[in-house]
Amino acid sequence: MRLSRYYVPTLKEDPAEAEVVSHKLLMRAGMIRKLTSGIYTYLPLGLRALNKVAGILREEMNRAGAVEILMPSVQPGDLWKETGRWDFYGKELLRIKDRHDRDYCLGPTHEEVVTDLVRGEIKSYKQLPINLYQIQTKFRDEIRPRFGLMRGREFVMKDAYSFDKDEAGAEASYRAMFEAYTKAFQRLGLKFRAVQADSGAIGGDFSHEFMVLAATGEDTIAVCRDAKCGFAANLEKAKVNKPAGDCACAAACPALETVSTPGTHTVEEVCAFLRIEPKALIKTLLFDADGKAVAALVRGDRQLNEVKFKNLLKCNDLKLADEAQVRAWTGAPVGFAGPVGLKVEGVYADHELCCATDWVAGANAADAHVKHLSLGRDAKVAAFADLRVIEPTDPCPECGGPIDFTKGIEVGHVFKLGLKYSKAMQTTFLDENGKEQLMIMGCYGIGVSRIVASAIEQNNDDKGPIFPPSIAPFEVSLLSLGAKEPEVLDKAAELYEELRGMGVDVLYDDRDERPGVKFNDADLMGFPMQLVLGGKGLKAGIIEAKDRKTGERKELPLAGFGEAFAAWRKEIWRSWGLE
Ligand code: ATP
Ligand code: MG
Repeated sequence: MRLSRYYVPTLKEDPAEAEVVSHKLLMRAGMIRKLTSGIYTYLPLGLRALNKVAGILREEMNRAGAVEILMPSVQPGDLWKETGRWDFYGKELLRIKDRHDRDYCLGPTHEEVVTDLVRGEIKSYKQLPINLYQIQTKFRDEIRPRFGLMRGREFVMKDAYSFDKDEAGAEASYRAMFEAYTKAFQRLGLKFRAVQADSGAIGGDFSHEFMVLAATGEDTIAVCRDAKCGFAANLEKAKVNKPAGDCACAAACPALETVSTPGTHTVEEVCAFLRIEPKALIKTLLFDADGKAVAALVRGDRQLNEVKFKNLLKCNDLKLADEAQVRAWTGAPVGFAGPVGLKVEGVYADHELCCATDWVAGANAADAHVKHLSLGRDAKVAAFADLRVIEPTDPCPECGGPIDFTKGIEVGHVFKLGLKYSKAMQTTFLDENGKEQLMIMGCYGIGVSRIVASAIEQNNDDKGPIFPPSIAPFEVSLLSLGAKEPEVLDKAAELYEELRGMGVDVLYDDRDERPGVKFNDADLMGFPMQLVLGGKGLKAGIIEAKDRKTGERKELPLAGFGEAFAAWRKEIWRSWGLE
């Protein structure tokens, strides 16, 4: 492509509303434009990057045996009512009505549609397993669309759905997708980790998120420092083992004593007033779990992990108690809840609380706390369980070694669905014995447009993005300097044709612009390789080759250019860990 005939509307300044680097650079490099909140047009360069990502995903999905289809973005509300998600999904589901006043929605995901397709078509175990995928535009009316392509309302997703006849098959389908994702993210040239994620009601090791590692990521992940151990988990999933040592619930403890703690509402205030460490205190958190009153106890210096608590209770909806509920259940204003005499249906404690005694906690009375609390003697704990958020100082739950916290951007998710949709939508097949069985499903999503943004979050400098060669809109920027020298232009045009002949994606900057403008634009577009031809070089029989990532320059001979370029190109791909 010749830049003089192309459409790359670069910007000099960062757009005011762009908060993260990928958003700024996608706008400045003329790759996307905002239509309205969270909704973008892909300009030629942005579209090329998006298509390259999609191409790699398509190849890896096909290789793994998944079959491509394309489902509609407008979906009938009736299907969503069948699974109950019409009521459950909330405001992210954009609902619309047609002229006959019938309910529709814009698809935020396609479990209903694909399940409806399969139940109408697949009847026998002989047709299973099957994995159907698509690369398609989703709509989610996100509460806070932001960061450009990172969290849009309209975005491109690759979503796949597997249907199996038995558990072993479903597990094999899951593993196949896990491996296809690993291969795909390697080919995309990104530093990533597959991390354990919450799998809700399904349980087990059947949900992984693929995270692109970048300081600006919205997710925090816990990673074992020992690569051999390999433990990596989303914070909401990371388990915390029970500390070693015997149960101390029944250990000797002075008699319970109520003390006055006027005006102390927070852990800090209570600890300052009583001159104790937060770890000597029990924090009591009250929740409404599907209409039932429950309490969670964690040490004063810990955070409750609500996902773990929700999974323990097996409830659908877990809400912090409101002020009226707190008053009704504790008989006190907010800030004085404690496990002694609490009027709730169940008190659940983090398992580390069972390894010590003599606690301080709220007294369920205004301006009062209790001292010398023994959970075994003074309270009724329904269960001790892993309930808190892991901390960077905790040992690895798998090998006991040190862990680190790092930031990641969720770019993919593989998830075992089990029977959730096949049951709700009666998706059955006849097994080998002619017996009707429900299909076992899995779903596998990748944020195609989010990957383009993540690649930039991970690779950029003050001049612009630096694309991995496999997903760069073009692999090479070819610049001709000295617009007034026809022999330079002729030679550059010749090289341009030669590169195209070699199957290289090259953007030739043939504009009548100053060298400085061309250099800046080439850096701003961020293709991994730059070739610069000037009058001096032409005379000396060389062209300058610059590695956009390292800034390293070398000279390639014009005589035998093709071979020299091919060798350099190989070097650049290898430096990205790519072949
Ligand atoms: P998040 O927690 O970031 O909202 P999610 O759990 O809702 O993601 P999934 O439903 O698993 O996401 O969707 C599959 C993939 O689609 C995600 O891994 C992510 O890469 C991408 N994705 C989800 N929401 C958006 C969005 N608003 N904009 C761009 N990509 C998105
Ligand atoms: Mg979401």
